[in-house]
Amino acid sequence: GTADYECEMVVLGGGPGGYSAAFRSADLGMKTIVVERFSKLGGVCLNVGCIPSKALLHNAAVIDEVKHLAANGIKFGEPEVDIDALRDFKEKVIGKLTGGLAGMAKARKVEFVRGIGRFIDPHHLEVQITSGEGKEVTGATKIIKFQKAIIAAGSSVFKLPFVPNDPRVVDSTGALELKSVPKRMLILGGGIIGLEMGTVYSTLGARLDVVEMLDGLMQGADRDLVKVWEKWNAHRFDNIMLKTKTVALEAKEDGIWATFEGDNAPAEPQCYDLVLHATGRVPNGGKVGAENAGVVVTDRGFIPVDKQMRTNVPHIFAIGDLVGQPMLAHKAVHEAHVAAENAADHKAFFDARVIPGVAYTDPEVAWVGVTEDEARKNGINYGKGVFPWAASGRAIANGRDEGFTKLIFDQDTKQIIGGAIVGPHAGDMIGEICLAIEMGCDAVDIGKTIHPHPTMGESIGMAAEAFKGVCTDLP
Ligand code: FAD
Repeated sequence: GTADYECEMVVLGGGPGGYSAAFRSADLGMKTIVVERFSKLGGVCLNVGCIPSKALLHNAAVIDEVKHLAANGIKFGEPEVDIDALRDFKEKVIGKLTGGLAGMAKARKVEFVRGIGRFIDPHHLEVQITSGEGKEVTGATKIIKFQKAIIAAGSSVFKLPFVPNDPRVVDSTGALELKSVPKRMLILGGGIIGLEMGTVYSTLGARLDVVEMLDGLMQGADRDLVKVWEKWNAHRFDNIMLKTKTVALEAKEDGIWATFEGDNAPAEPQCYDLVLHATGRVPNGGKVGAENAGVVVTDRGFIPVDKQMRTNVPHIFAIGDLVGQPMLAHKAVHEAHVAAENAADHKAFFDARVIPGVAYTDPEVAWVGVTEDEARKNGINYGKGVFPWAASGRAIANGRDEGFTKLIFDQDTKQIIGGAIVGPHAGDMIGEICLAIEMGCDAVDIGKTIHPHPTMGESIGMAAEAFKGVCTDLP
């Protein structure tokens, strides 16, 4: 039959991966269509992820900062929080960004087809047109005939089987709706997303419990960093339950009752006003009819790709959360550009040496490349340079000298292979370490780079100088 649309490139999914891929494809001269079920571009990141969480975290950080000023003789009253206005602010932030994306799509003549897309064969996508919240299917179906495709359908919240259907049990999307502030809140899963949302709710007045199956919060980061975060945040928690599992959640009139098992499980079930389940995300690779196009999908729902972001079907590419960990927006964007460039017959491949990770908590925890734990475990001959912020004039002046900056070097080449920072704005600072790793800098390059004084950024140069025997070439 005849198709409703024909294009050189169809991008399935309008998140950071999808819109970046569509824009790059169009910029490279391909007639491009992006298919997205929701009315706006932006995906998880802009609508229910990175951006709204940071809009709320910023407000929480200011409230917390103001409280610290009491120690310097500056006292404010308790903050009056108008939760509706705060929610409006967050919505405005999202609106500005998604509005900007719509403008960028229009400027490039990227066509937006709104609906749920599904491959029906290697060159056709069927789209069930949606309306409203994105769940309502209008009944209309459109067929898109494409020469090439990029699959960017992202990931979804992983839901534990015993999670009851109750408004007092939410995932990150529900938590970002910020309906009210509970008295007692349980966070299922001690990862970044749970701890970021916990920070917001705690600053607004909630007492927190967190339960984590593994032996530490914020897996992936070195324990010395997490320790600093834990000390600074201990006041938020009644109970941090490590090596403990939640085995049941029961919705009762007075709250959600949680039963735990494991090393640190309370003997009795505990009652909460809000439970946030943040135990991970699962890729959407298995939900787009990929098999109809001949594209291989793993049992877990990931789509395997090569360094050009090509699937096993040469004219179909895949990017973002559904091709693998880490599920991060900045990874999706880089993969998007690689995929679009290859689709347009340019030569490109994904060759990032490192991908940074950041917890935007207070303090922030950021790390990139080889961690010290990994270096130790893998028997790498490494050395480190550490600069404690207690020796940073700026950190002391800011009243925030709890953090530190750590650089990991290859002992043979003295080249930097990793780095980590805990402290306010660590996420903004880690980019310099990423660049140093990409450029193959050694400790002298970093230590002898003049950083502005007094800044926290200086701590990166100082940490390099602290790496023994390299920069201490005094006469
Ligand atoms: P997504 O953003 O998931 O976009 C996929 C899009 O495809 C969605 O819009 C979806 O509606 C659409 N779609 C799916 N299937 C179909 C279909 N069949 N038809 C039509 N449309 C479809 N990452 C960071 O780097 N930094 C952060 O600070 C950060 N914070 C986060 C906070 C939270 C609370 C969450 C949940 C995530 C956070 N992330 C963060 C992760 C980040 O959001 C993801 O890595 C990123 O959005 C992945 O981009 P993507 O393009 O692969 O997919």
